[in-house]
Amino acid sequence: MIPVSQPQITDYDVELVSDAMRTGWVSSTGPYIEQFEREFAAFCGVAHCVATANGTVAIHLALEALRIGPGDEVIVPDLTFVATANAVRQAGATPVAVDVRQSDWCIDPAGIERALTPATRAIMPVHLYGHPCAMDDIHALAEQHKLRIIEDAAEAHGAVFRGRRVGSFGDLATFSFYGNKIITTGEGGVITTDSPELAARARFLRDHAMSADRRYWHPEPGFNYRLTNLQAALGVAQLSRIDLLLSKRSAILEQYRSLLARDEFIMNPALPGAKPVNWMTSLVIPGFTREQRDELIQVLRTHGVDSRPFFYPLSQLPMYECDGKPVANELSATGLNLPTFPDLSPSDVEDVCRAVNAAFDQVAARPASRARN
Ligand SMILES: *Cc1c(COP(=O)(O)O)cnc(C)c1O
Repeated sequence: MIPVSQPQITDYDVELVSDAMRTGWVSSTGPYIEQFEREFAAFCGVAHCVATANGTVAIHLALEALRIGPGDEVIVPDLTFVATANAVRQAGATPVAVDVRQSDWCIDPAGIERALTPATRAIMPVHLYGHPCAMDDIHALAEQHKLRIIEDAAEAHGAVFRGRRVGSFGDLATFSFYGNKIITTGEGGVITTDSPELAARARFLRDHAMSADRRYWHPEPGFNYRLTNLQAALGVAQLSRIDLLLSKRSAILEQYRSLLARDEFIMNPALPGAKPVNWMTSLVIPGFTREQRDELIQVLRTHGVDSRPFFYPLSQLPMYECDGKPVANELSATGLNLPTFPDLSPSDVEDVCRAVNAAFDQVAARPASRARN
């Protein structure tokens, strides 16, 4: 079975993790943490980076750093991984889902404007599947309405919008280093920011909110959201070759595009001004029902190819249920992610594409048994 994702672990990765082990600095103090934070900040073009235990708590910590909580609303895209909304709820605030755009699958700035209320405190754009959001329009809205921006960049390390890398647009931005992300630390995350005050507050809250000059004095409730030195060692090794990893992913997408060039298929968007990264090669089949898409995934499995359906929209999940969002619903029902990882070989991609084309013809030949989506 060709998996959807697989981390690339090299001898160098093992060497740095082993080095961290040998020094005895296995917990959340140690030189690799500072090095990883410094180098990841530089990669994003920001002044500060705060490493965290995973990408979800990075979002929660960013909200807490901004003192966003009960009574506050945070605007999120309807089509995202559930962690985006869960972190908002964990902070005690309310996520407000806004539809995405057909053009880039990211949050629609026009929809943000319609969703604003007096309780709105922040916008949380998600650079979905590696495509950067319309940060110019989002920034203008935030300025106009005095809102904070927290980028959820968990899927988009290295993506560029109008010459700047994601992670540098928000008051704060968050990344994930889960095993299937662009680079991994096993589990892990970071906050990036240009604000020394927000970085300091995030560090303080990350470490039980302990006073810097009075040990075991905690003026407010904090968290243990730290990354370990062991994990940071892996992060340093992975980050040292991120350009290579990104270019391998791009080459994979180009090969997919050439072998899956048919009128029935839409693949990863790439708007002018945006340089997306290929976190997940995506295939949308506008003519399909959700049932047909699911059947396609099953047939692919019989051909030895693993794939994933697009996320369910937040507005369809029980705890966030609200008015359906047409674009998010349509993409969610008709999209799937194909195997995408640096060590996927050109012949693997050929095999996947042969399977996709055959499976599509097979599923499309049968009439859909239920109403669309
Ligand atoms: C992966 C992901 C997260 C969560 O990251 P974890 O490190 O798994 O906690 C948050 N948001 C999005 C959009 C993601 O894809």
